[in-house]
Amino acid sequence: MSLTRKLTCISCPVGCTLTLTLDGKELTNISGNQCPRGLNYAKDEFYNPKRMLTSTIRIEDGVIQQLPVRTQEPIPKEKIPLAMKILKDLTTRAPVNLGEIIDADFADTKVALIATRSVKKKS
Ligand code: SF4
Repeated sequence: MSLTRKLTCISCPVGCTLTLTLDGKELTNISGNQCPRGLNYAKDEFYNPKRMLTSTIRIEDGVIQQLPVRTQEPIPKEKIPLAMKILKDLTTRAPVNLGEIIDADFADTKVALIATRSVKKKS
């Protein structure tokens, strides 16, 4: 028995509503996309959904106490709970430069966690 699932493509501002037809764990049809990017988006969302993660971590000796960070690329959605747990206990030390790598293999994803602002050392 096949089922359908609706999804909004966020690859561009048009925001096409995609209809995915599923047969068990297989994706058998995609419709509603106005361009081929929608097909790739639907396949990625169905088989390997990923998300960018932005958050903050503690920073010691800095002029502020929280450092904004983000993953350099989207990471698998299933890794988000582990990533949040790691972020909760992660601390770095000032000074930190914008774009500096905080963890090169964040949450075993092979994706780096980077600083999204510079923080000077407290004088
Ligand atoms: S399917 Fe193409 S046109 Fe539609 S939202 Fe996705 S990228 Fe944009």
